[in-house]
Amino acid sequence: MLRKLDYGEADRIFTLLTRTHGKVGAIAKGVRRPESKLGPSLELYGHVDVLLARGRGQLDVVAQVERLPGTRIAGEVERMSHAALIAELAERVCEDRHPVDGVYELTVTALEELARESDPRRASAYFLTAALELLGYAPQLSVCASCEKPLPAKPAAFSPSAGGFLCDRDDLGMPPTSLAAIKVLRLMAAGDLQTYRRLKIDDALMTEIEHVLTTQLEHHLDRRLKSLQFLHDMRARS
Ligand SMILES: [Zn+2]
Repeated sequence: MLRKLDYGEADRIFTLLTRTHGKVGAIAKGVRRPESKLGPSLELYGHVDVLLARGRGQLDVVAQVERLPGTRIAGEVERMSHAALIAELAERVCEDRHPVDGVYELTVTALEELARESDPRRASAYFLTAALELLGYAPQLSVCASCEKPLPAKPAAFSPSAGGFLCDRDDLGMPPTSLAAIKVLRLMAAGDLQTYRRLKIDDALMTEIEHVLTTQLEHHLDRRLKSLQFLHDMRARS
């Protein structure tokens, strides 16, 4: 469930990410009435088993819905904002009624990880790494993105336009990212979620990691992600 929009007196239109049909718009009729049977199961960012009927226009009609087991993402603004980022990116890369390989699975895993992880930023960073990989935008982490020489074990500058970290000769004096952040990025890129979950990552280190992932992502998207801007603003205020 990626997005919802109230419609008419008691209806709501949902954007659903489906395993086999990609992104699908569906209307849930009367769902905002207290007696609606559909209402309680249709939560934003929820994982549901849904039966859709063909509607008259572009939208399908939600006929039946059942919530799948799993932790709910609710409450805190920060966690909800990271869920919004995951949903916005999934929506951006998916076409209507056409699945994109791996996006459904990645989105479901990311939202589950987000629900169980005590620090939502960690789950979000892991998701961004996997999403970049899936979209073919994974940054170069082991060799210089310009001359392709192996990077020595020390801080290095990151350039989204070059597509990765740069060696001393190529970095043009840009501020470096710490070696610790580069190592965490490599671990995530290797898909080692078990080790990643056990790492101690303080706020400063997480900020460095997020900076690399989000600048890389935004370099490749033609429009900025609204939810990412919201997270930046929220952090700037706190
Ligand atoms: Zn180089």
